[in-house]
Amino acid sequence: MDMMSRGDKGSGQAPMIDPHGRPIRYLRVSVTDRCDLRCVYCMAETMTFLPKADLLNLEELDRVCSAFVRLGVRKLRITGGEPLVRRNIMWLFQRLGRHLESGALDELTVTTNATQLSKHAAALWDCGVRRVNVSLDTLDPDKFAEITRWGKLDTVLKGLDAATEAGLAIKINAVALKGVNDDETDRMIAWCGERGYDLTFIEVMPMGEIGGDSRLSQYLPLSVLRGRIQQTWTLTDIDYTSGGPARYAQIEETGRKLGFITPLTHNFCESCNRVRLTCTGQLYMCLGQDDHADLRAPVRAADDDGPLIDAIEEAIGRKPKGHDFVIDRRRRAPAVARHMSVTGG
Ligand code: SAM
Ligand code: SF4
Repeated sequence: MDMMSRGDKGSGQAPMIDPHGRPIRYLRVSVTDRCDLRCVYCMAETMTFLPKADLLNLEELDRVCSAFVRLGVRKLRITGGEPLVRRNIMWLFQRLGRHLESGALDELTVTTNATQLSKHAAALWDCGVRRVNVSLDTLDPDKFAEITRWGKLDTVLKGLDAATEAGLAIKINAVALKGVNDDETDRMIAWCGERGYDLTFIEVMPMGEIGGDSRLSQYLPLSVLRGRIQQTWTLTDIDYTSGGPARYAQIEETGRKLGFITPLTHNFCESCNRVRLTCTGQLYMCLGQDDHADLRAPVRAADDDGPLIDAIEEAIGRKPKGHDFVIDRRRRAPAVARHMSVTGG
């Protein structure tokens, strides 16, 4: 039997099915490795970014994303690095918006640090984006500057206001950092409740060298955080899932969703419906594994999408069953060498 089976090629109806029986419905695309911030858990202060020629250009990104849509992907998330610092990025959103109009795609969305949202929120809405994930770890301006190394909280807050004004629903992603922002949990929950945002906490993942402080000292298991939250808030587990590593609860006092992304303490791989494309066209079938497939070569080799589609199908045919993230005292080195900003969060 084939390693991978799938129905109805190119109809946009039947998804690719990986060797473990999981339908692939979700593609996350990092459109740049660059960022205007340097969050301490994500990047070293001095990063060497990729030469621009290595990156897929916007037309190539459109071709690859559109090929995935033809192969049954129903959700695209544009991420980075900081996706909204890529020059002319709104062109890509406009192009991809056509798949929403045709009904081939259910959702086009973005993960951003919100520094450029004031400029782009209305245009994102016009392209069909309805929800954005905004990464924000603290509401304290000094702490924000410390975590991001030089960011201004005010710029992010203005970006959030612009997003709300444009009609975009907002989910805040906060990385839980021991001794850094774990004293702000209640304030974040209340603030999100007042503003109508959902909130998700993320455990620090061992991805890429970051220099200085090791992640072992930043690591805060979300089971501990949840225990603390429940001393103040009433959480009811809900079935809602995005097919990813987040588990959700409803906060009864605010009526908002609270998510926990716990790749280190829970195994979420059995329901994994996603793959990730880097800005250089490398397809990672698993966030926690190094195996990947080069899609840039087939895109550049031919004007027609035949070789690209073959390369995608071959890659999905070797999607692994799960990951091997570990943070412990014996293994201080990152479990995978690349940074989250390369594969996208
Ligand atoms: N720049 C955008 C942003 O910050 O939202 C998009 C890219 S960023 C890499 C995506 C998400 O990954 C962010 O929510 C960020 O907090 C998270 N992230 C980055 N490095 C991480 C790490 N080592 N462990 C856990 N989450 C991480
Ligand atoms: Fe930039 Fe996002 Fe990484 Fe922060 S988490 S450095 S905003 S890519």
